[in-house]
Amino acid sequence: MNRTKNLLNLPLKQVKGIGEKRSIVLSKFGLHTVMDLIYFFPRKYIERASLIDIADVKAGRDVAFLARVKKVRIVRHRKKFLECYAFDQTGEIRIVFFNPRFWMLKKLKKQGHFIFWGKAKEFNMEPVLVNPNLEPFKPYADAKGIYPVYPHAQKLARFGLSSKTINRLVERALELVLPSITELLPIQVRKELRLPDVYEAIKMIHFPLSKSDITRSRTRFAFEELFLTQLLFVKRKNENEKKIAYFVCRNDNLCKSYLAALDFELTVSQKEVFEKIRDELYNGKRIRRLIQGDVGCGKTVVAILASLLVVEAGYQVAFMAPTELLAMQHYEKQREILDSLGVSSALITGGIKSAEIKKLIGEIESKRINIVFGTHSLLSGEVSFGSLGLCVIDEQQRFGVMQRLALLNKAMDAHAIFLSATPIPRTLFLALYGDLDLSTIPELPPRKARVRTFLRTPSRRDAIYKFARERFDQGEKGYIVFPAIGSDDNGDKDRISIKEGIKFVRKYFPEDMVGIIHGRLSGKEKRRIFDDFMRGNIKLLVGTSIVEVGLDVKDATVLIIEGPEHFGLSQLHQIRGRIGRGEHEGYCILIASKPDDALAFYRLERFASTTNGFELAELDLQLRGWGNPWGVEQHGFLSFRVADPLKDKELLEKASLYAENIANGNILLNESEMNMIKDYLDTISENVKLDDVLV
Ligand code: ADP
Ligand code: MG
Repeated sequence: MNRTKNLLNLPLKQVKGIGEKRSIVLSKFGLHTVMDLIYFFPRKYIERASLIDIADVKAGRDVAFLARVKKVRIVRHRKKFLECYAFDQTGEIRIVFFNPRFWMLKKLKKQGHFIFWGKAKEFNMEPVLVNPNLEPFKPYADAKGIYPVYPHAQKLARFGLSSKTINRLVERALELVLPSITELLPIQVRKELRLPDVYEAIKMIHFPLSKSDITRSRTRFAFEELFLTQLLFVKRKNENEKKIAYFVCRNDNLCKSYLAALDFELTVSQKEVFEKIRDELYNGKRIRRLIQGDVGCGKTVVAILASLLVVEAGYQVAFMAPTELLAMQHYEKQREILDSLGVSSALITGGIKSAEIKKLIGEIESKRINIVFGTHSLLSGEVSFGSLGLCVIDEQQRFGVMQRLALLNKAMDAHAIFLSATPIPRTLFLALYGDLDLSTIPELPPRKARVRTFLRTPSRRDAIYKFARERFDQGEKGYIVFPAIGSDDNGDKDRISIKEGIKFVRKYFPEDMVGIIHGRLSGKEKRRIFDDFMRGNIKLLVGTSIVEVGLDVKDATVLIIEGPEHFGLSQLHQIRGRIGRGEHEGYCILIASKPDDALAFYRLERFASTTNGFELAELDLQLRGWGNPWGVEQHGFLSFRVADPLKDKELLEKASLYAENIANGNILLNESEMNMIKDYLDTISENVKLDDVLV
């Protein structure tokens, strides 16, 4: 067993064809070991049969064709771009690359064969490809008919690692280690579901000879991912049921005082969720619970109440948010009232002076501080708690399975409450959060203000910005959100960025009215700008999706979103949740950057017509599929690289069923299978380190 693992953990340099240079490049893409490379599955396949003739390219369609190139040149016309013509026996087509890279010019100049694919557009009544994907192609060597395209194909090609090269490296890696790959699916499961074994499947996924090779191998790995996650969840859940908390809460005096000090009543469902948690704390159950509810439903209060029970029992709370800004906001909103109850709290973020941090760390260790607000680095950094009793993890939807496991490992036996503002449809809950108990807060607190949403085209920008200015002059505040910071982010030219947008922002708003905030600023700078915004010295925050989560500024009423097409609906909904939080009506104005894109426009129309977060989450899933809308960046093994819990709903249900049956002994495994799975689950679940998965 050990020997096996070692072989797969060999560094990539052991593979013939990978030297120092390539191994450095590959590591940038997360590929470090032979195993990583073998499990680096093609993102898609281009089939010979689906390549079309250039004569058949029509604007508006996704196309792929095999062609040679000519007339490669750099054009300087307002902007610099690379132009060339691709041709086959049937015709030719103009291809344009904005922001061309030097390697591209060099490659194209060699004038060999290339596969191009992308969406054809129309220019001067002729189809044209703008920034398409391309891969060099050797007609004889590649004649097999199915051409795998690996993730990050474009970027890798820049380093001389075309998909074809990767494919060949995989082949060599397999020569080295194929027999030592472990089969994780029990034979009974494979038989009943007619899934190929791992050796066959790996070969089929990298070197398919037919379409059915692709489907069969994909199904197998999709099932494997879902099955292993489910097994892990079942195991975790079973363990948790048996677990008893190391302390019991008995009093809720602090909660009562806290509630008395609030200027509102809890809603019925806030009360229900809180009471459920209180009962569990009183009964000594160890809590692993996710609270979900729409933006603004008031999850924070519930989490604070739970914190107070724990504090009253003599234990500390780590209250964690995904950004420093959010952590700071929680702290500042709660501090006063906590102080008045005699509960000491502190904020730990990167923006604080190191001398002060040292002092705080000492006080946390000696239990003089009860509730510590901060980012998730609270658990991974130098802070150590004298007696940690509860971890609250806000905005959990931003994290993947691995990150959650790592957090829980770090939290050890402390209670853990996760808050998620993205409503999670049932199947996804099973796939993503099956190890947690679930509470839902289905309604919003009664509010006077409401938010109206408007969808506009860029031609109206002038009027919109003037409108915002009027509001700010009257003392209200607002946000302008851009999808990117600089124009080179992700190389996506369509995305309007802060860098460009700031030009017209400046035209309408004087400099001292505006704060610009984005992820590349230091914590200290963000904090200063945000403070100014809270106090009203600044009226307008311009940012990327940094305003997406949690900010709660009561008198913010205007929200302008530039390039809204680039956000998921759930994400837009989050952003929209930033306004209309106080007395005044909120205005959410979307300035569509692609009004001609019918599907994109339809999504935005639907968004404008509802304020129901659950509905939007479902719609997002239907339209955009799994992954993106959740913004879940999955890591390592336990990631859904192949599975799509939505499309693979049936597989997911089967996986869940098998996992249950194996866990409770209805399906018996032979000894080696059992060990294999146990080993695997132990390695991933117990060894995930927070520092490895928090990015
Ligand atoms: P979210 O669930 O999105 O994190 P918050 O916890 O930030 O929402 O709550 C949003 C706002 O609503 C806060 O300003 C909070 O004080 C307020 N709030 C919470 N519960 C209630 C309630 N029952 N009645 C009125 N306002 C409430
Ligand atoms: Mg919140």
